Amino acid sequence: MKVSWLNTIRDRISLWLGLIFLILPIAIYCLVTVTIVHNQKRETIADITSETLTEFEIILDHLNGALINLQIQFEHCDISTLNYMHKLSFELPGIEAFLVLGENNAILCSNWLHDLGQFPVALSHRHNRLQLTGEVYIPQIGKRGVAVYRTSSKGLVVSIMASAYLKQLMTAQIQANESLVLYNGNAEQLVASKGLTAPSFLELIQQEFSRTLDLPPIQRDNLFVQRSEHYPEIAVAYFFKLASFIEILKDQILELALISSLSLGGSLSWLAYRHQKVHSMPYQIHLGLKHHEFEPYLQPVVDMRSNQWVGAECLTRWHRHGHTVAFPDEFIVAAEDTGLIKELTAQVAEKLGNYIDQQADKFSSFYFSVNLSPNFIDQATVEAVEQMVAKSPRISPENLRFEITERGLNATNKNVFQDAIDKLRKQGYLFGLDDFGTGQSGLEYFSNIEPDFLKLDRRFVTAIDTPESVDFLLLKTIVQLAKSLKLFVIAEGVETETQQNWLLENSIFYGQGWLFQSATSTKDFSKAYSAQKNQII
Ligand code: C2E
Ligand code: CA
Ligand code: CA
Repeated sequence: MKVSWLNTIRDRISLWLGLIFLILPIAIYCLVTVTIVHNQKRETIADITSETLTEFEIILDHLNGALINLQIQFEHCDISTLNYMHKLSFELPGIEAFLVLGENNAILCSNWLHDLGQFPVALSHRHNRLQLTGEVYIPQIGKRGVAVYRTSSKGLVVSIMASAYLKQLMTAQIQANESLVLYNGNAEQLVASKGLTAPSFLELIQQEFSRTLDLPPIQRDNLFVQRSEHYPEIAVAYFFKLASFIEILKDQILELALISSLSLGGSLSWLAYRHQKVHSMPYQIHLGLKHHEFEPYLQPVVDMRSNQWVGAECLTRWHRHGHTVAFPDEFIVAAEDTGLIKELTAQVAEKLGNYIDQQADKFSSFYFSVNLSPNFIDQATVEAVEQMVAKSPRISPENLRFEITERGLNATNKNVFQDAIDKLRKQGYLFGLDDFGTGQSGLEYFSNIEPDFLKLDRRFVTAIDTPESVDFLLLKTIVQLAKSLKLFVIAEGVETETQQNWLLENSIFYGQGWLFQSATSTKDFSKAYSAQKNQII
Protein backbone atom coordinates (compact mmCIF):
# COMPACT_ATOMS: atom_id res chain seq x y z
CA MET A 1 0.00 0.00 0.00
CA LYS A 2 1.25 3.43 -0.86
CA VAL A 3 1.83 5.44 2.30
CA SER A 4 2.44 9.09 2.72
CA TRP A 5 3.46 11.22 5.69
CA LEU A 6 1.28 13.92 4.32
CA ASN A 7 -1.80 11.88 5.11
CA THR A 8 -0.65 11.45 8.70
CA ILE A 9 -0.10 15.17 8.93
CA ARG A 10 -3.57 15.72 7.58
CA ASP A 11 -4.83 13.61 10.43
CA ARG A 12 -5.44 16.58 12.70
CA ILE A 13 -5.56 14.72 16.00
CA SER A 14 -2.17 13.12 15.29
CA LEU A 15 -0.68 16.44 14.40
CA TRP A 16 -2.04 18.34 17.37
CA LEU A 17 -1.02 15.64 19.80
CA GLY A 18 2.41 15.46 18.12
CA LEU A 19 2.84 19.18 18.65
CA ILE A 20 1.63 18.94 22.23
CA PHE A 21 4.11 16.12 22.93
CA LEU A 22 6.82 18.33 21.48
CA ILE A 23 5.97 21.66 23.08
CA LEU A 24 4.38 20.80 26.41
CA PRO A 25 7.40 19.23 28.16
CA ILE A 26 9.66 22.05 26.94
CA ALA A 27 7.16 24.70 28.00
CA ILE A 28 6.65 23.09 31.42
CA TYR A 29 10.40 22.75 31.90
CA CYS A 30 11.00 26.42 30.96
CA LEU A 31 8.21 27.69 33.19
CA VAL A 32 9.23 25.60 36.17
CA THR A 33 12.92 26.52 35.78
CA VAL A 34 12.20 30.23 35.46
CA THR A 35 9.82 30.14 38.42
CA ILE A 36 12.36 28.29 40.57
CA VAL A 37 15.20 30.67 39.62
CA HIS A 38 13.03 33.74 40.27
CA ASN A 39 11.80 32.40 43.59
CA GLN A 40 15.33 31.57 44.69
CA LYS A 41 16.39 35.08 43.78
CA ARG A 42 13.52 36.61 45.76
CA GLU A 43 14.37 34.46 48.77
CA THR A 44 18.03 35.50 48.61
CA ILE A 45 17.01 39.15 48.43
CA ALA A 46 14.66 38.82 51.39
CA ASP A 47 17.48 37.19 53.40
CA ILE A 48 20.07 39.86 52.52
CA THR A 49 17.63 42.66 53.29
CA SER A 50 16.59 41.33 56.65
CA GLU A 51 20.17 40.47 57.69
CA THR A 52 21.35 43.99 56.82
CA LEU A 53 18.46 45.54 58.69
CA THR A 54 19.05 43.41 61.78
CA GLU A 55 22.70 44.39 61.93
CA PHE A 56 21.83 48.04 61.52
CA GLU A 57 19.22 47.81 64.24
CA ILE A 58 21.76 46.30 66.66
CA ILE A 59 24.08 49.26 66.05
CA LEU A 60 21.24 51.70 66.52
CA ASP A 61 20.20 49.97 69.76
CA HIS A 62 23.70 50.50 71.15
CA LEU A 63 23.81 54.08 69.98
CA ASN A 64 20.39 54.79 71.38
CA GLY A 65 21.50 53.50 74.77
CA ALA A 66 24.66 55.60 74.65
CA LEU A 67 22.76 58.76 73.65
CA ILE A 68 20.20 58.28 76.43
CA ASN A 69 23.03 57.91 78.97
CA LEU A 70 24.70 61.04 77.63
CA GLN A 71 21.39 62.88 77.86
CA ILE A 72 21.08 61.93 81.50
CA GLN A 73 24.72 62.65 82.40
CA PHE A 74 25.16 65.95 80.56
CA GLU A 75 25.10 69.00 82.77
CA HIS A 76 28.07 71.08 81.59
CA CYS A 77 30.66 70.53 78.97
CA ASP A 78 33.36 69.62 81.49
CA ILE A 79 36.19 67.18 81.43
CA SER A 80 34.15 64.30 82.83
CA THR A 81 31.59 64.74 80.04
CA LEU A 82 34.30 64.80 77.43
CA ASN A 83 35.88 61.72 78.96
CA TYR A 84 32.57 59.97 78.88
CA MET A 85 32.15 60.97 75.22
CA HIS A 86 35.63 59.59 74.45
CA LYS A 87 34.85 56.38 76.24
CA LEU A 88 31.66 55.89 74.24
CA SER A 89 33.40 56.74 70.95
CA PHE A 90 36.05 54.20 71.77
CA GLU A 91 33.60 51.46 72.72
CA LEU A 92 31.21 51.84 69.87
CA PRO A 93 32.62 50.76 66.51
CA GLY A 94 32.33 53.25 63.67
CA ILE A 95 31.54 56.20 65.95
CA GLU A 96 33.74 59.21 65.29
CA ALA A 97 32.45 61.61 67.94
CA PHE A 98 29.67 62.71 70.27
CA LEU A 99 28.24 66.23 70.46
CA VAL A 100 25.67 68.24 72.36
CA LEU A 101 24.00 70.96 70.26
CA GLY A 102 22.22 74.03 71.53
CA GLU A 103 19.99 76.41 69.68
CA ASN A 104 20.73 77.02 66.01
CA ASN A 105 22.84 73.91 65.90
CA ALA A 106 25.55 75.58 67.98
CA ILE A 107 27.94 72.94 69.26
CA LEU A 108 27.88 73.19 73.06
CA CYS A 109 30.11 70.26 73.75
CA SER A 110 32.05 67.72 71.69
CA ASN A 111 34.94 65.32 71.93
CA TRP A 112 36.05 66.51 68.48
CA LEU A 113 39.59 67.84 68.54
CA HIS A 114 38.63 70.66 66.19
CA ASP A 115 37.07 74.00 67.00
CA LEU A 116 33.55 74.07 68.08
CA GLY A 117 31.21 76.14 65.98
CA GLN A 118 28.06 75.31 64.21
CA PHE A 119 27.00 71.82 63.20
CA PRO A 120 26.86 71.77 59.38
CA VAL A 121 23.60 69.85 59.05
CA ALA A 122 20.16 71.00 60.15
CA LEU A 123 18.72 68.51 62.64
CA SER A 124 15.11 68.14 63.63
CA HIS A 125 14.11 68.93 67.21
CA ARG A 126 10.64 67.64 66.77
CA HIS A 127 10.69 63.99 67.79
CA ASN A 128 11.59 62.65 71.14
CA ARG A 129 13.16 59.50 69.76
CA LEU A 130 16.22 58.32 67.92
CA GLN A 131 16.65 60.03 64.55
CA LEU A 132 19.32 60.00 61.92
CA THR A 133 20.38 62.03 58.94
CA GLY A 134 21.41 60.76 55.55
CA GLU A 135 25.04 60.56 54.56
CA VAL A 136 26.58 64.05 54.63
CA TYR A 137 30.03 65.59 54.46
CA ILE A 138 31.10 66.76 57.91
CA PRO A 139 33.96 69.26 57.65
CA GLN A 140 34.96 68.89 61.32
CA ILE A 141 36.08 65.30 60.71
CA GLY A 142 36.84 65.77 57.04
CA LYS A 143 34.78 62.70 56.12
CA ARG A 144 31.34 61.66 55.14
CA GLY A 145 29.17 60.39 57.95
CA VAL A 146 25.70 60.06 59.40
CA ALA A 147 24.43 61.93 62.46
CA VAL A 148 22.41 59.78 64.86
CA TYR A 149 20.71 61.90 67.53
CA ARG A 150 18.05 62.37 70.14
CA THR A 151 16.26 65.51 71.40
CA SER A 152 16.40 66.49 75.09
CA SER A 153 15.56 69.48 77.24
CA LYS A 154 19.25 70.28 77.31
CA GLY A 155 19.56 70.31 73.53
CA LEU A 156 20.37 67.61 71.00
CA VAL A 157 22.71 64.72 71.80
CA VAL A 158 24.38 63.61 68.61
CA SER A 159 26.75 60.89 67.53
CA ILE A 160 28.59 60.83 64.22
CA MET A 161 28.95 57.51 62.51
CA ALA A 162 31.47 57.14 59.68
CA SER A 163 29.94 56.29 56.32
CA ALA A 164 32.82 53.94 55.62
CA TYR A 165 31.75 51.89 58.62
CA LEU A 166 28.15 51.68 57.40
CA LYS A 167 29.39 50.57 53.98
CA GLN A 168 31.28 47.74 55.62
CA LEU A 169 28.04 46.61 57.16
CA MET A 170 26.61 45.88 53.74
CA THR A 171 28.63 42.77 53.12
CA ALA A 172 26.21 41.03 50.75
CA GLN A 173 27.43 40.47 47.20
CA ILE A 174 25.05 42.18 44.82
CA GLN A 175 24.84 42.08 41.03
CA ALA A 176 26.18 44.86 38.83
CA ASN A 177 22.80 46.38 38.05
CA GLU A 178 21.37 46.08 41.56
CA SER A 179 21.51 48.22 44.67
CA LEU A 180 21.08 47.85 48.40
CA VAL A 181 20.03 50.94 50.31
CA LEU A 182 19.81 51.95 53.97
CA TYR A 183 16.98 54.42 54.06
CA ASN A 184 15.65 56.81 56.69
CA GLY A 185 12.60 58.23 54.99
CA ASN A 186 14.43 60.67 52.73
CA ALA A 187 15.37 59.38 49.33
CA GLU A 188 17.49 62.45 48.60
CA GLN A 189 19.81 61.69 51.48
CA LEU A 190 20.34 57.99 51.85
CA VAL A 191 21.99 56.64 54.99
CA ALA A 192 24.14 54.30 52.97
CA SER A 193 24.01 52.53 49.67
CA LYS A 194 25.77 49.85 47.72
CA GLY A 195 25.64 49.54 43.93
CA LEU A 196 23.85 51.85 41.53
CA THR A 197 20.98 53.88 42.91
CA ALA A 198 19.06 55.09 39.90
CA PRO A 199 16.72 58.07 40.59
CA SER A 200 13.76 56.01 39.42
CA PHE A 201 14.49 53.47 42.16
CA LEU A 202 14.65 56.17 44.77
CA GLU A 203 11.37 57.63 43.65
CA LEU A 204 9.81 54.24 43.86
CA ILE A 205 11.04 53.53 47.36
CA GLN A 206 9.85 56.98 48.48
CA GLN A 207 6.40 56.25 47.06
CA GLU A 208 6.14 52.78 48.53
CA PHE A 209 7.50 53.91 51.87
CA SER A 210 5.10 56.81 52.27
CA ARG A 211 2.13 54.78 51.11
CA THR A 212 2.02 52.47 54.10
CA LEU A 213 3.41 52.16 57.56
CA ASP A 214 2.90 48.40 57.46
CA LEU A 215 5.74 46.33 58.67
CA PRO A 216 5.55 43.40 56.28
CA PRO A 217 8.05 43.68 53.48
CA ILE A 218 6.95 45.48 50.35
CA GLN A 219 7.52 43.36 47.28
CA ARG A 220 7.39 44.68 43.76
CA ASP A 221 8.78 43.25 40.55
CA ASN A 222 12.15 44.87 41.15
CA LEU A 223 11.94 46.28 44.67
CA PHE A 224 12.01 44.71 48.09
CA VAL A 225 11.63 46.98 51.15
CA GLN A 226 11.88 45.83 54.75
CA ARG A 227 10.92 48.39 57.41
CA SER A 228 12.42 48.34 60.91
CA GLU A 229 10.18 47.30 63.73
CA HIS A 230 11.90 49.45 66.35
CA TYR A 231 12.85 52.47 64.21
CA PRO A 232 9.85 53.06 61.93
CA GLU A 233 11.58 55.60 59.68
CA ILE A 234 14.34 53.19 58.88
CA ALA A 235 14.26 50.59 56.18
CA VAL A 236 16.48 48.56 53.94
CA ALA A 237 15.58 48.48 50.27
CA TYR A 238 16.91 46.18 47.60
CA PHE A 239 16.50 47.07 43.92
CA PHE A 240 17.05 44.11 41.68
CA LYS A 241 16.40 42.78 38.22
CA LEU A 242 15.03 39.30 37.74
CA ALA A 243 16.98 37.38 35.12
CA SER A 244 15.10 37.19 31.81
CA PHE A 245 13.72 33.99 30.33
CA ILE A 246 16.56 33.85 27.84
CA GLU A 247 19.26 34.50 30.45
CA ILE A 248 17.97 31.72 32.69
CA LEU A 249 17.56 29.26 29.83
CA LYS A 250 21.04 30.09 28.55
CA ASP A 251 22.38 28.73 31.83
CA GLN A 252 20.22 25.61 31.46
CA ILE A 253 21.13 24.96 27.85
CA LEU A 254 22.23 21.35 28.39
CA GLU A 255 19.10 20.39 30.29
CA LEU A 256 16.98 22.23 27.75
CA ALA A 257 18.67 20.38 24.89
CA LEU A 258 18.05 17.09 26.68
CA ILE A 259 14.36 17.86 27.31
CA SER A 260 13.93 19.11 23.74
CA SER A 261 15.45 15.99 22.24
CA LEU A 262 13.34 13.78 24.52
CA SER A 263 10.19 15.69 23.53
CA LEU A 264 11.16 15.55 19.89
CA GLY A 265 11.76 11.82 20.26
CA GLY A 266 8.38 11.41 21.96
CA SER A 267 6.64 13.49 19.36
CA LEU A 268 8.25 11.64 16.46
CA SER A 269 7.50 8.26 18.02
CA TRP A 270 3.90 9.32 18.40
CA LEU A 271 3.73 10.50 14.78
CA ALA A 272 5.40 7.29 13.61
CA TYR A 273 2.90 5.27 15.64
CA ARG A 274 0.00 7.29 14.21
CA HIS A 275 1.49 7.07 10.75
CA GLN A 276 1.60 3.32 11.05
CA LYS A 277 -1.88 3.20 12.54
CA VAL A 278 -3.43 5.61 10.07
CA HIS A 279 -1.98 3.62 7.20
CA SER A 280 -2.72 0.21 8.65
CA MET A 281 -5.32 -1.67 6.69
CA PRO A 282 -7.84 -1.96 9.56
CA TYR A 283 -7.76 1.79 10.15
CA GLN A 284 -8.08 2.48 6.45
CA ILE A 285 -11.05 0.12 6.23
CA HIS A 286 -12.57 1.85 9.24
CA LEU A 287 -12.21 5.20 7.42
CA GLY A 288 -13.50 3.69 4.19
CA LEU A 289 -16.61 2.47 6.02
CA LYS A 290 -17.06 5.86 7.62
CA HIS A 291 -16.98 7.48 4.18
CA HIS A 292 -19.15 4.80 2.58
CA GLU A 293 -16.47 3.90 0.07
CA PHE A 294 -17.38 0.22 -0.36
CA GLU A 295 -19.47 -0.52 -3.45
CA PRO A 296 -21.26 -3.56 -4.78
CA TYR A 297 -19.95 -4.65 -8.20
CA LEU A 298 -21.86 -7.26 -10.12
CA GLN A 299 -20.73 -10.16 -12.26
CA PRO A 300 -23.40 -12.14 -14.14
CA VAL A 301 -24.08 -15.85 -13.69
CA VAL A 302 -24.86 -17.16 -17.15
CA ASP A 303 -26.89 -20.14 -18.34
CA MET A 304 -24.28 -21.29 -20.82
CA ARG A 305 -26.87 -23.22 -22.87
CA SER A 306 -28.82 -20.10 -23.80
CA ASN A 307 -26.33 -17.34 -22.88
CA GLN A 308 -29.04 -15.93 -20.66
CA TRP A 309 -28.07 -14.08 -17.46
CA VAL A 310 -29.85 -15.76 -14.57
CA GLY A 311 -28.20 -14.00 -11.69
CA ALA A 312 -25.24 -11.95 -10.53
CA GLU A 313 -22.64 -12.22 -7.83
CA CYS A 314 -22.04 -9.18 -5.69
CA LEU A 315 -18.28 -8.56 -5.44
CA THR A 316 -17.11 -5.73 -3.28
CA ARG A 317 -14.93 -2.92 -4.63
CA TRP A 318 -13.41 -0.16 -2.56
CA HIS A 319 -13.40 3.28 -4.13
CA ARG A 320 -10.63 4.58 -1.93
CA HIS A 321 -10.40 8.31 -1.64
CA GLY A 322 -7.46 9.47 -3.74
CA HIS A 323 -6.59 5.92 -4.76
CA THR A 324 -7.60 3.60 -7.55
CA VAL A 325 -10.29 1.04 -6.90
CA ALA A 326 -9.11 -1.67 -4.51
CA PHE A 327 -9.93 -5.37 -4.96
CA PRO A 328 -11.07 -7.73 -2.21
CA ASP A 329 -7.70 -9.51 -2.06
CA GLU A 330 -6.33 -6.32 -0.50
CA PHE A 331 -8.88 -5.90 2.27
CA ILE A 332 -11.17 -8.88 2.89
CA VAL A 333 -8.68 -10.78 5.06
CA ALA A 334 -7.95 -7.71 7.20
CA ALA A 335 -11.68 -6.97 7.44
CA GLU A 336 -12.33 -10.54 8.58
CA ASP A 337 -9.44 -10.54 11.05
CA THR A 338 -10.72 -7.38 12.71
CA GLY A 339 -14.42 -8.14 12.50
CA LEU A 340 -14.96 -5.09 10.29
CA ILE A 341 -16.29 -7.47 7.65
CA LYS A 342 -19.70 -7.33 9.35
CA GLU A 343 -20.04 -3.60 8.82
CA LEU A 344 -18.53 -3.91 5.36
CA THR A 345 -21.05 -6.60 4.33
CA ALA A 346 -23.88 -4.52 5.78
CA GLN A 347 -22.77 -1.41 3.89
CA VAL A 348 -22.46 -3.20 0.56
CA ALA A 349 -25.68 -5.17 1.10
CA GLU A 350 -27.59 -1.97 1.84
CA LYS A 351 -26.41 -0.39 -1.41
CA LEU A 352 -27.21 -3.60 -3.28
CA GLY A 353 -30.68 -3.66 -1.67
CA ASN A 354 -31.37 -0.11 -2.87
CA TYR A 355 -30.22 -1.05 -6.36
CA ILE A 356 -32.38 -4.16 -6.53
CA ASP A 357 -35.35 -2.23 -5.18
CA GLN A 358 -34.95 0.51 -7.82
CA GLN A 359 -34.50 -1.97 -10.67
CA ALA A 360 -36.94 -4.61 -9.45
CA ASP A 361 -39.01 -4.52 -12.68
CA LYS A 362 -36.00 -5.39 -14.74
CA PHE A 363 -34.89 -8.25 -12.53
CA SER A 364 -38.13 -10.14 -11.89
CA SER A 365 -36.76 -13.68 -12.12
CA PHE A 366 -33.15 -12.86 -11.41
CA TYR A 367 -31.05 -13.41 -8.31
CA PHE A 368 -28.18 -11.62 -6.66
CA SER A 369 -25.75 -13.55 -4.52
CA VAL A 370 -23.92 -12.01 -1.62
CA ASN A 371 -20.65 -13.38 -0.23
CA LEU A 372 -20.70 -14.08 3.50
CA SER A 373 -17.71 -14.97 5.67
CA PRO A 374 -18.80 -17.99 7.71
CA ASN A 375 -17.34 -16.79 11.02
CA PHE A 376 -19.48 -13.67 10.89
CA ILE A 377 -22.83 -15.22 10.17
CA ASP A 378 -24.98 -14.84 13.26
CA GLN A 379 -28.27 -13.46 14.52
CA ALA A 380 -27.16 -9.99 13.41
CA THR A 381 -26.88 -11.29 9.83
CA VAL A 382 -30.45 -12.54 10.02
CA GLU A 383 -31.58 -9.15 11.31
CA ALA A 384 -29.57 -7.31 8.64
CA VAL A 385 -31.23 -9.33 5.89
CA GLU A 386 -34.65 -8.75 7.43
CA GLN A 387 -33.96 -5.03 7.65
CA MET A 388 -32.75 -4.91 4.06
CA VAL A 389 -35.97 -6.54 2.88
CA ALA A 390 -38.05 -4.27 5.11
CA LYS A 391 -36.38 -1.22 3.60
CA SER A 392 -36.57 -2.51 0.04
CA PRO A 393 -39.94 -4.27 -0.04
CA ARG A 394 -39.61 -5.31 -3.65
CA ILE A 395 -36.85 -7.75 -2.75
CA SER A 396 -38.01 -11.32 -2.25
CA PRO A 397 -36.02 -14.40 -1.20
CA GLU A 398 -35.85 -15.44 -4.88
CA ASN A 399 -33.84 -12.29 -5.56
CA LEU A 400 -31.24 -12.97 -2.92
CA ARG A 401 -28.78 -15.83 -2.32
CA PHE A 402 -25.76 -16.27 -0.15
CA GLU A 403 -22.37 -17.74 -0.86
CA ILE A 404 -20.41 -18.98 2.12
CA THR A 405 -16.81 -18.04 1.30
CA GLU A 406 -13.80 -20.26 1.59
CA ARG A 407 -12.31 -19.20 4.91
CA GLY A 408 -12.89 -21.96 7.47
CA LEU A 409 -15.52 -21.86 10.18
CA ASN A 410 -14.21 -21.75 13.76
CA ALA A 411 -15.64 -24.45 16.01
CA THR A 412 -16.77 -21.79 18.52
CA ASN A 413 -18.98 -20.10 15.92
CA LYS A 414 -20.58 -23.30 14.67
CA ASN A 415 -23.87 -23.16 16.59
CA VAL A 416 -24.45 -19.46 15.99
CA PHE A 417 -23.69 -19.97 12.30
CA GLN A 418 -26.03 -22.98 12.05
CA ASP A 419 -28.89 -21.15 13.80
CA ALA A 420 -28.61 -18.13 11.51
CA ILE A 421 -28.50 -20.24 8.36
CA ASP A 422 -31.49 -22.30 9.47
CA LYS A 423 -33.51 -19.16 10.15
CA LEU A 424 -32.74 -17.59 6.76
CA ARG A 425 -33.33 -20.86 4.99
CA LYS A 426 -36.77 -21.10 6.58
CA GLN A 427 -37.50 -17.68 5.07
CA GLY A 428 -36.69 -19.12 1.63
CA TYR A 429 -33.11 -17.98 1.03
CA LEU A 430 -30.67 -20.27 -0.77
CA PHE A 431 -27.12 -20.94 0.38
CA GLY A 432 -24.19 -22.02 -1.74
CA LEU A 433 -20.65 -23.16 -1.04
CA ASP A 434 -18.03 -20.89 -2.56
CA ASP A 435 -14.75 -22.15 -4.02
CA PHE A 436 -15.91 -25.70 -3.79
CA GLY A 437 -13.04 -28.17 -3.92
CA THR A 438 -10.44 -25.95 -2.30
CA GLY A 439 -9.14 -25.84 1.26
CA GLN A 440 -11.65 -25.82 4.03
CA SER A 441 -14.83 -25.47 2.09
CA GLY A 442 -14.73 -29.14 1.25
CA LEU A 443 -16.81 -32.05 2.25
CA GLU A 444 -16.82 -31.07 5.92
CA TYR A 445 -19.04 -28.10 5.11
CA PHE A 446 -21.50 -30.27 3.30
CA SER A 447 -22.99 -31.74 6.43
CA ASN A 448 -23.19 -28.33 8.12
CA ILE A 449 -24.64 -26.32 5.31
CA GLU A 450 -26.33 -28.82 3.01
CA PRO A 451 -25.76 -26.33 0.19
CA ASP A 452 -28.37 -25.48 -2.41
CA PHE A 453 -25.64 -24.77 -4.96
CA LEU A 454 -21.89 -25.06 -5.44
CA LYS A 455 -19.42 -22.59 -6.85
CA LEU A 456 -16.74 -24.57 -8.65
CA ASP A 457 -13.47 -22.80 -8.03
CA ARG A 458 -11.68 -21.10 -10.90
CA ARG A 459 -8.65 -23.31 -10.26
CA PHE A 460 -10.55 -26.32 -11.58
CA VAL A 461 -11.97 -24.45 -14.55
CA THR A 462 -8.41 -23.43 -15.48
CA ALA A 463 -7.40 -27.11 -15.21
CA ILE A 464 -9.59 -27.87 -18.26
CA ASP A 465 -6.69 -26.50 -20.30
CA THR A 466 -4.27 -29.06 -18.75
CA PRO A 467 -6.00 -32.44 -18.92
CA GLU A 468 -2.96 -34.26 -17.49
CA SER A 469 -3.01 -32.20 -14.25
CA VAL A 470 -4.17 -33.41 -10.82
CA ASP A 471 -6.64 -30.53 -10.67
CA PHE A 472 -8.26 -31.84 -13.85
CA LEU A 473 -8.69 -35.27 -12.21
CA LEU A 474 -10.17 -33.57 -9.17
CA LEU A 475 -12.48 -31.57 -11.42
CA LYS A 476 -13.89 -34.74 -12.90
CA THR A 477 -14.43 -36.19 -9.41
CA ILE A 478 -16.19 -33.02 -8.20
CA VAL A 479 -18.41 -32.98 -11.27
CA GLN A 480 -19.38 -36.61 -10.60
CA LEU A 481 -20.12 -35.83 -6.96
CA ALA A 482 -22.26 -32.84 -7.88
CA LYS A 483 -24.17 -34.90 -10.41
CA SER A 484 -24.90 -37.68 -8.00
CA LEU A 485 -25.99 -35.21 -5.33
CA LYS A 486 -28.07 -33.40 -7.98
CA LEU A 487 -26.53 -30.06 -7.01
CA PHE A 488 -26.82 -26.87 -8.93
CA VAL A 489 -23.20 -26.00 -9.94
CA ILE A 490 -21.82 -22.67 -11.12
CA ALA A 491 -18.34 -22.69 -12.64
CA GLU A 492 -16.22 -19.72 -11.70
CA GLY A 493 -13.63 -18.02 -13.87
CA VAL A 494 -14.77 -19.21 -17.31
CA GLU A 495 -12.42 -17.42 -19.67
CA THR A 496 -12.47 -19.45 -22.88
CA GLU A 497 -14.96 -21.18 -25.14
CA THR A 498 -12.99 -24.42 -24.75
CA GLN A 499 -13.65 -24.27 -21.01
CA GLN A 500 -17.33 -23.44 -21.61
CA ASN A 501 -17.71 -26.35 -24.05
CA TRP A 502 -16.11 -28.85 -21.70
CA LEU A 503 -18.36 -27.68 -18.87
CA LEU A 504 -21.50 -27.97 -20.98
CA GLU A 505 -20.45 -31.45 -22.18
CA ASN A 506 -20.11 -32.41 -18.55
CA SER A 507 -23.55 -31.04 -17.59
CA ILE A 508 -22.38 -27.91 -15.82
CA PHE A 509 -24.72 -25.37 -17.29
CA TYR A 510 -24.04 -22.27 -15.27
CA GLY A 511 -20.89 -20.21 -15.54
CA GLN A 512 -19.37 -16.97 -14.41
CA GLY A 513 -16.28 -15.43 -15.95
CA TRP A 514 -14.62 -12.94 -18.17
CA LEU A 515 -15.83 -14.85 -21.23
CA PHE A 516 -19.23 -13.36 -20.49
CA GLN A 517 -18.64 -10.28 -18.36
CA SER A 518 -16.31 -9.16 -15.58
CA ALA A 519 -17.65 -7.54 -12.41
CA THR A 520 -18.91 -4.00 -13.10
CA SER A 521 -20.52 -1.18 -11.18
CA THR A 522 -24.29 -1.44 -10.73
CA LYS A 523 -24.78 1.33 -13.29
CA ASP A 524 -22.74 -0.48 -15.96
CA PHE A 525 -24.36 -3.74 -14.98
CA SER A 526 -27.84 -2.38 -15.76
CA LYS A 527 -26.70 -1.33 -19.24
CA ALA A 528 -24.88 -4.62 -19.92
CA TYR A 529 -27.89 -6.60 -18.67
CA SER A 530 -30.30 -4.78 -21.01
CA ALA A 531 -27.89 -5.15 -23.93
CA GLN A 532 -27.51 -8.93 -23.50
CA LYS A 533 -31.28 -9.33 -23.07
CA ASN A 534 -31.90 -7.55 -26.36
CA GLN A 535 -29.27 -9.75 -28.03
CA ILE A 536 -31.00 -12.91 -26.88
CA ILE A 537 -34.43 -11.67 -28.05
P1 C2E B 1 -15.01 -15.34 -5.23
O1 C2E B 1 -16.28 -15.25 -4.47
O2 C2E B 1 -14.53 -16.68 -5.61
O3 C2E B 1 -15.20 -14.37 -6.43
C1 C2E B 1 -14.74 -14.65 -7.68
C2 C2E B 1 -13.49 -13.89 -7.97
O4 C2E B 1 -12.98 -14.25 -9.27
C3 C2E B 1 -13.76 -12.40 -8.05
O5 C2E B 1 -12.59 -11.79 -7.62
C4 C2E B 1 -13.94 -12.16 -9.51
O6 C2E B 1 -13.69 -10.82 -9.91
C5 C2E B 1 -12.91 -13.10 -10.11
N1 C2E B 1 -13.25 -13.51 -11.43
C6 C2E B 1 -14.47 -13.58 -12.04
N2 C2E B 1 -14.38 -14.03 -13.32
C7 C2E B 1 -13.05 -14.27 -13.54
C8 C2E B 1 -12.34 -14.79 -14.66
O7 C2E B 1 -12.86 -15.09 -15.73
N3 C2E B 1 -11.00 -14.92 -14.52
C9 C2E B 1 -10.37 -14.58 -13.36
N4 C2E B 1 -9.05 -14.73 -13.30
N5 C2E B 1 -11.01 -14.10 -12.27
C10 C2E B 1 -12.35 -13.96 -12.40
P2 C2E B 1 -12.67 -10.63 -6.60
O8 C2E B 1 -13.81 -9.76 -6.93
O9 C2E B 1 -11.32 -10.06 -6.54
O10 C2E B 1 -13.00 -11.31 -5.25
C11 C2E B 1 -12.11 -12.13 -4.62
C12 C2E B 1 -12.74 -12.82 -3.47
O11 C2E B 1 -13.04 -11.91 -2.46
C13 C2E B 1 -14.06 -13.45 -3.79
O12 C2E B 1 -13.85 -14.66 -4.38
C14 C2E B 1 -14.70 -13.57 -2.43
O13 C2E B 1 -14.21 -14.71 -1.75
C15 C2E B 1 -14.15 -12.36 -1.71
N6 C2E B 1 -15.16 -11.30 -1.69
C16 C2E B 1 -15.46 -10.41 -2.62
N7 C2E B 1 -16.43 -9.57 -2.17
C17 C2E B 1 -16.75 -10.01 -0.92
C18 C2E B 1 -17.70 -9.61 0.07
O14 C2E B 1 -18.45 -8.65 -0.09
N8 C2E B 1 -17.73 -10.30 1.24
C19 C2E B 1 -16.91 -11.37 1.46
N9 C2E B 1 -17.00 -11.99 2.62
N10 C2E B 1 -16.01 -11.76 0.57
C20 C2E B 1 -15.94 -11.10 -0.64
CA1 CA C 1 -18.23 -15.92 -4.24
CA1 CA D 1 -13.16 -18.38 -6.12
